[in-house]
Amino acid sequence: MTVDPTTGDPATGDPTTGGPATGTAVPVLARTRKGLAAARAALPAPVVLVPTMGALHDGHRSLLRVAREIAGPGGSVLVSIFVNPLQFGPLEDFDRYPRPLEQDLALCAGEGVRVVFAPSRREMYPAQPMVTVDPGELGQRLEGKSRPGFFEGVLTVVLKLFQLTRPDAAVFGEKDAQQLALIRRMTGDLDLGVCIAGAPLHRDPDGLATSSRNVYLSAPERTSALALSRALAAARAAAAGGTADALAAARAVLANAASFDPAVRLDYLVLAEPDELTEVGPDYKGPAVLLVAARVGTTRLIDNAAVNVGGPQDPVPGLDAGTATAVAPAAVAPATVAPTTVAPTTGAGGAGGGA
Ligand code: AMP
Repeated sequence: MTVDPTTGDPATGDPTTGGPATGTAVPVLARTRKGLAAARAALPAPVVLVPTMGALHDGHRSLLRVAREIAGPGGSVLVSIFVNPLQFGPLEDFDRYPRPLEQDLALCAGEGVRVVFAPSRREMYPAQPMVTVDPGELGQRLEGKSRPGFFEGVLTVVLKLFQLTRPDAAVFGEKDAQQLALIRRMTGDLDLGVCIAGAPLHRDPDGLATSSRNVYLSAPERTSALALSRALAAARAAAAGGTADALAAARAVLANAASFDPAVRLDYLVLAEPDELTEVGPDYKGPAVLLVAARVGTTRLIDNAAVNVGGPQDPVPGLDAGTATAVAPAAVAPATVAPTTVAPTTGAGGAGGGA
């Protein structure tokens, strides 16, 4: 690998030519702010950012395809890979989190990504930040309650990434529903001028939500972990009867899974309205999201699914029988913000569906 003498970054590609929609051109790898600035300056608009922590899998791949769709034939996809220490608690898996950079670059090359920004911890945080983003009340519930400081860390790094990469749009996964809701709020509340798109949750063929952390699971743990998606499917199947029926169906699956070996240890199961994720009451009818978090062995897993309370369910790929989510080369899952809402030059409408 050669090194760009002006930036100290490995010279791995040309951002003006790299990355046709399904090509294998090598993306530019920027490891420094200076290298990123040089690569960013050469990128054709609109520029669509996909922030990740790396260890890329088919779930990330589906985000890259949504990003390419939003960028269109003339635009660019920029991926960031950074395991953000600010969002990990002292007892969490920061040190053991997988970091297979070469593999990640190969996946990005195959998806037409033009620039990969993979800074070191020191490059991202030359000093311990004093000023951070307060996620507010929504950030204290659900994941925020179980992982104190998590969303403050997430929002702070996402804001920094927006500042450094100046994207027109950014894509986040519905797998992390609360994170997506908070990023939409931050983008609207702080007038960041970035269009936020949500990409559907991708599942492995057995129904488990695809995650970089799934590599921690032993084979028996993985089998136990399937209780999460089964609980969501059971809730959806019972949801025509109302919130109590939906929750009872999911709880029955999870109660059974608590006695599995290895056991599924439930953290939370909450049926919430989709925008602010406020828990719904017993008489609620309409669109909702069922969120679940649990531990299997030492691995913490989250999952969620849309639930139409009191009515029929729209199919959810990979969750309902016979609806697989395999990422076929031409398949692009529909994003929750239409590509036409991207305003590449002004960032107008940038609240991007901010709730
Ligand atoms: P991570 O690398 O885990 O921080 O995830 C980076 C982005 O990919 C986030 O916006 C996640 O919500 C999204 N993501 C991770 N796993 C999935 C999945 N299975 N389906 C859809 N999006 C995902």
